[in-house]
Amino acid sequence: MYGIYEEKDVVVVGGGVAGLSAAISAARNGAKTLLIERNGILGGTATMGLMAVFMGFDRHTIGGVAVEFLENMKKLEGAIEGEYYAVFDPEVFKEVAFEMVDSAGVDLHLHTIMDDVIVKNDRIEGLITKSRLKHQVVLANSIIDTTGDADIAFSAGVAFEKGEGAEKITQPVTLIFKMGNVQIKELFQYIQNNPDEFTKGKYQTIASIVKEKPFFIAPGLFSLIKEARQRGDLQLDHNLIVLCSTPRPNEVLINATRSLKVDGTNQNDLTRAEIETRKQMTSVIKFLKKYVVGFSNSYLIESACSIGVRETRRIIGEYILNESDILNDKSFSDAIARNFFPMDVHGPSSDPEGHFWESPSETYQIPFRCLIPREFSNLLIAGRCISTTHFAQGSTRSMPCCMATGQAAGTAAALIVKKNIKTKELDIKLLQKTLIDQGVII
Ligand SMILES: Cc1cc2nc3c(=O)[nH]c(=O)nc-3n(C[C@H](O)[C@H](O)[C@H](O)COP(=O)(O)OP(=O)(O)OC[C@H]3O[C@@H](n4cnc5c(N)ncnc54)[C@H](O)[C@@H]3O)c2cc1C
Repeated sequence: MYGIYEEKDVVVVGGGVAGLSAAISAARNGAKTLLIERNGILGGTATMGLMAVFMGFDRHTIGGVAVEFLENMKKLEGAIEGEYYAVFDPEVFKEVAFEMVDSAGVDLHLHTIMDDVIVKNDRIEGLITKSRLKHQVVLANSIIDTTGDADIAFSAGVAFEKGEGAEKITQPVTLIFKMGNVQIKELFQYIQNNPDEFTKGKYQTIASIVKEKPFFIAPGLFSLIKEARQRGDLQLDHNLIVLCSTPRPNEVLINATRSLKVDGTNQNDLTRAEIETRKQMTSVIKFLKKYVVGFSNSYLIESACSIGVRETRRIIGEYILNESDILNDKSFSDAIARNFFPMDVHGPSSDPEGHFWESPSETYQIPFRCLIPREFSNLLIAGRCISTTHFAQGSTRSMPCCMATGQAAGTAAALIVKKNIKTKELDIKLLQKTLIDQGVII
């Protein structure tokens, strides 16, 4: 039907944080690797979605490619690491992503969509990609799905779940934006002096000085929002706005808008959400300028190119990580990554104020089986669509964790290709040793 365009050891689809990590790791471990991405830039939600905060960034838990990304961004003065979080400049992330992909020797197809799969028995032999108006065939020994939406798995018929409960409602989607010319010291003092205005809890509101700069992640502004909503000055359906410092002077990243009951794999829902959240953004900007200390002379620097989608399909893999595993720090003999961030689930259904936030006792492990779909012998999944429950995904969706599962998938794929075996035949001890040797914390 179509001519064969490429033949690779490992093909990774989706150049978000998970896909970057997977492709870099596969190439570094000796596999001829191709990364396919539908946009013209890398980073996915981190850049297209402007979500420039690593949550759950703790050096006792997170290592490997995630730490390399952060260190490389720091060298370019594009990131600041604080307690539990690190903030970065998405422009610097883009630069570092291209540099790391290139130096690992990954081939890159940008502006290319994975359109369909070529399946033979229990293998996905290749992918049909679409770029501009052309369809092409890419063959691979091992395939990694880091599309966030599990697009490859879905096309191949892998079982999956979506959302919560009978209605299968996913977490809300959010348009992130950035304000400039904020009087940052005044705002920082407001956050420090008004703790009741912000969420409380170990990993919630952070406000400290890092490298002589105010560093904050502050979800709240409760009474100001309430007052503005009562007066009709703010069109928002909930009482929480998250203010995040950035590495740049007088800049604040705003996580405030949200659209409910959006299926992030349905273009009609996404279109509605883009329009709804843009209206909310205009209202939030007016609110910030009128009500919040430091914002009176601020202006909109930029909004995300695309709405941020927290959750869509979660594949049903060989193991489904659940909330009890996370809360009880369950150990797994096939662990390939560690994470510690709470299950941060924004009220997806009837209660728009709801925000489920449960912390693990310490850190917790993620088993390799969460990356393995049951149906195929050469497909791995990484990032926000791995095999978990809805609530567990509230934690595993954090970027450092997506990078850790990406690194595990990429490393595993390279070993599988080298040994010419099926995914489930991989010696887990060898995978774990390889990961640990490459800086991963398990
Ligand atoms: C509003 C919001 C706030 C968040 N806040 C934080 C936070 O503060 N800290 C934190 O750590 N995490 C946060 N997260 C979670 C985190 O950003 C994401 O879970 C994570 O970035 C997902 O990474 P990923 O690589 O799995 O997927 P994505 O970032 O979704 O990347 C998937 C990539 O695949 C590409 N793609 C998809 N389908 C195809 C296809 N068919 N063909 C080719 N390419 C394709 C996409 O273009 C994209 O580049 C937030 C998320 C949202 C939405």
